[in-house]
Amino acid sequence: MHPFESHIRNVPDFPKAGIIFKDISPLLQDRFHEVIESMAKTIKWDEIDYVVGIESRGFILGAAMATLKGKGFIVVRKKGKLPPPTIAESYELEYGSDTLEMLVNQKSSRVVLVDDVLATGGTLKAVMNLCQKNNYEVKALSILINLTFLNKFTEEGHPVHSVINY
Ligand code: AMP
Repeated sequence: MHPFESHIRNVPDFPKAGIIFKDISPLLQDRFHEVIESMAKTIKWDEIDYVVGIESRGFILGAAMATLKGKGFIVVRKKGKLPPPTIAESYELEYGSDTLEMLVNQKSSRVVLVDDVLATGGTLKAVMNLCQKNNYEVKALSILINLTFLNKFTEEGHPVHSVINY
């Protein structure tokens, strides 16, 4: 068992029935610096121009990683939060769909995507599409918790670095 696991709270049926929510609040409170260092490990930082954080826990983790490594930070936000010009990508959820947005970017650059939990992978795939359409080359993905039984990201060859794997 990874030493971080004892600081993660498993909350059954949140935010809806059947989901076991991984609450990382105690982990951030108790071990924040180590979490950020672990997430930054194995990323080839000389190949990265910017860190891309996914709303909203990806902001906490991604912004800290960007500071640690002296990189700039880019936000991916939920629909309607960013002022124009934006570029959007929609993706299917279990019920209905959702949309994520970024500011329009012209300059070609290389990024690492950051989020807390990789579950089905729908969110990260949408962000990868968004980046591709928006001149950002995704060099790596850094995820705190990979629920590997819910996705095939590793088998599909995506460059995922995850700290805790279930
Ligand atoms: P998915 O698109 O299914 O990979 O879900 C990823 C997004 O949903 C991430 O931004 C997570 O923050 C959140 N998420 C999904 N499943 C969980 C879970 N079991 N515990 C906490 N957050 C989750």
